[in-house]
Amino acid sequence: MILEVAIALITLHFAVPIAYYATVIKWMKRPWPDVANADLPSVSIIIPTFNEADVIGKRIINIAGQGYPLDKMNVILVDSSSDGTADEAERQARASGLRLSILREEERRGKAEALNAGLKLATGDVVVIADADAFWGANALPNAMSWFSNPKIGAVSCVKTPLSGNSTELSYRNLYNVLRVGESKKFATPIFHGELAAFRRDLLMKLGGFPTDIGADDSHTATRIAAMGFRSIIPENVTCAELVPTAGFSKWKVRRAQHLIQNFIKAIRLEYPSDFKPIIYTEFYLHVINPWILAAAVVLLLMNHGVQAMALLAAGLAAAAWGPYRSWMVQQLYLLVASVRNLRSKELMWDKQ
Ligand code: GDP
Ligand code: MN
Repeated sequence: MILEVAIALITLHFAVPIAYYATVIKWMKRPWPDVANADLPSVSIIIPTFNEADVIGKRIINIAGQGYPLDKMNVILVDSSSDGTADEAERQARASGLRLSILREEERRGKAEALNAGLKLATGDVVVIADADAFWGANALPNAMSWFSNPKIGAVSCVKTPLSGNSTELSYRNLYNVLRVGESKKFATPIFHGELAAFRRDLLMKLGGFPTDIGADDSHTATRIAAMGFRSIIPENVTCAELVPTAGFSKWKVRRAQHLIQNFIKAIRLEYPSDFKPIIYTEFYLHVINPWILAAAVVLLLMNHGVQAMALLAAGLAAAAWGPYRSWMVQQLYLLVASVRNLRSKELMWDKQ
């Protein structure tokens, strides 16, 4: 009996994501919403920084080099660094002809608080969050902004490619990007990226700014915008890359997983348009429940410890030779550790490296 239940749980654990993936592939064939050849909106770009002196200069060059009309954009740096990040940003902005306002925080208060402080200074039609330790691909900003000519689109983020990192991170990203784009074509994706997360400013104001009680300020805001009936999309023509920490990689992945889980647990209580329901409920299941289904199955197999149960476990381990399966399993582990860690700390602030 225990063995049968374990097999049923394993089947469920793999069947849901496979069925969802097949559905998303179908959504992929849908057309994108229309964009008009309208005037580009004015944009306020908020860069929150905590000790980013090594990268901020390159980041300013990256933003200034997007080919977006400089008179239609201003950058707001909200800085709590002690390493001269703001001075470095100021120097580079002047050299690049970029309009930059600097808000110096007296103490570190976390990213979301910094974003909300920056939002008070924002005047653009669209507000873009731009993490410092990341880069935008060619034309990412003008491409992202052109989507806002469609009044149904409330938020736009980027297809993310790791700049460095191992093959596990790469296969994880490939799978996730397909999901993000397919969900966007259906209606909206509940996962956004702080490397480039663009929102209509009036919608942000209605929401009262970014949530400060959870780590996923970008994803949660995108999800709430979907709840308001607007589309939060990740289109293929908006790309970004992030610097993947080499030291403390697992810690970083767990922290990211913690933030995603926080988003889904907070988001599950909202009301959603019917097109978004299959997306948000499946993603909630995949991030919050599905890893525990697998864990329960493993426990049952160990309890049973018969020949068949052990053979099944051995097969499960041997399959790790296949990259995509391994990367899936590692992700399940991150999600499990993240759920447990969320009971102790939300990991809102951390010191990378
Ligand atoms: P991750 O990308 O989720 O791992 O988080 P990061 O540590 O890279 O932070 C994302 C962005 O927010 C980076 O530009 C950081 O410099 C910035 N940041 C993180 N914590 C704070 C903070 O407490 N205050 C401010 N002003 N910026 C922060
Ligand atoms: Mn980062």
